Amino acid sequence: MNRLAMSARRPSPLLRVDGARLNAEIESLRRFGGTPDGGTHRVAYSDEDLGAREWVTERMREAGLRVWVDPAGNLVGELDGTDPDLPPIAVGSHIDTVPFGGSYDGTIGVLGAIEIVRTLQAEGHRLRHPLRLYTFQNEEGGKTGSRLLIGAVPPFELDVQTASGFTIREGIERLGGVPEDLSRSEGAAGELAAFLELHIEQGATLERRGIPIGVVEGIVGIRRWFVTVTGEKNHAGTTPMAQRRDALVAASRLVVAVNETARSIEGGQVATVGQVDVDPGAPNVIPGSVRFTLEVRDLSMDGIQGVVDAVQGRADEIGRDTGTLFDFEPFYLSEAAPSSEALRQGVEGAAADLGLSHVRMPSGAGHDAQSMAKLCPMGMVFVPSRAGISHAPDEYTAPEQITAGVDVLMGVLLRTDEGAG
Ligand SMILES: [Zn+2]
Repeated sequence: MNRLAMSARRPSPLLRVDGARLNAEIESLRRFGGTPDGGTHRVAYSDEDLGAREWVTERMREAGLRVWVDPAGNLVGELDGTDPDLPPIAVGSHIDTVPFGGSYDGTIGVLGAIEIVRTLQAEGHRLRHPLRLYTFQNEEGGKTGSRLLIGAVPPFELDVQTASGFTIREGIERLGGVPEDLSRSEGAAGELAAFLELHIEQGATLERRGIPIGVVEGIVGIRRWFVTVTGEKNHAGTTPMAQRRDALVAASRLVVAVNETARSIEGGQVATVGQVDVDPGAPNVIPGSVRFTLEVRDLSMDGIQGVVDAVQGRADEIGRDTGTLFDFEPFYLSEAAPSSEALRQGVEGAAADLGLSHVRMPSGAGHDAQSMAKLCPMGMVFVPSRAGISHAPDEYTAPEQITAGVDVLMGVLLRTDEGAG
């Protein structure tokens, strides 16, 4: 991965986008799948998704971008830079939504980027690097478009049916991609100088603290285990308390220990037991075995391992104490994707230039930027979500908050352009 230098200077000139035009367009895009309650129903590969992509394609062309669809079905646009030897700086997000979702998730990142292109053109400001704009396909159905760029989609997944009723393979065809040629989509992005994404927070931290800009430290990794506790099933009436090997008592103690462990270690890690099955599960039988899930999330995979090591230590103690046995079986892994430190500082600098307060924070939700972090240095900007609501019609970010986020995105883009390469 290339090294990224960031201009520490305030970029000249300090540009601002046309917030009224941008927010009118965000409302306009709701003509494709907008619902009367202010939400949007625009699942990937649906007619609404196709209509919205066509509309966005037009806006991209008007802004002066060369536009194409890559083999993976992502909508891509590019603006030449002044230095033909430099790799592109990429920006982007997605315009598909969850079923009956909100109108801001993803959309502000795509339309904000187009508004940036228009502003640069209007100001006659040419970037040194080419500027690449991605509208990734099927983010909400599993980040398909961005994961195809890094070769992270196993073949069976192409035949999975999506919320649109189409399989991913059929969907890619509908978008103008080439399902027979997906190996070519790996590496289709080529070398990139950086990837930047503006997104709504989808949590309530920024709103609660009254801070307009979140400097995303990265997307947290996730690991999940099935934990099985084996004790002894026995009669609940005739077995004295001292002679029991109650698997549920042992499991309960570990559930508490999981919570204590995650709280006792410094850092932002979170750990959850979310599902419990008790066997045999009868009022008059001492539980013989319990199976539950353990999920740990953190910005660093080592951090996750640290939590599970400590939890396993506690399990050994509890097992000795209760005459039970604990078994941990991993079943899910999603790699953490830290953002680039240079780009975090770039976001902070861009926010400071505009007089906007900012705070560093992890992203608990997945984003296309998570895939792109495998290809190049990645940076993300968050703007507040009202009441932390997302994936629902009540999802809302005020126009001036969106405009501020796009201005910051443009600032970090300019700093990257001036500093890198
Ligand atoms: Zn999103």
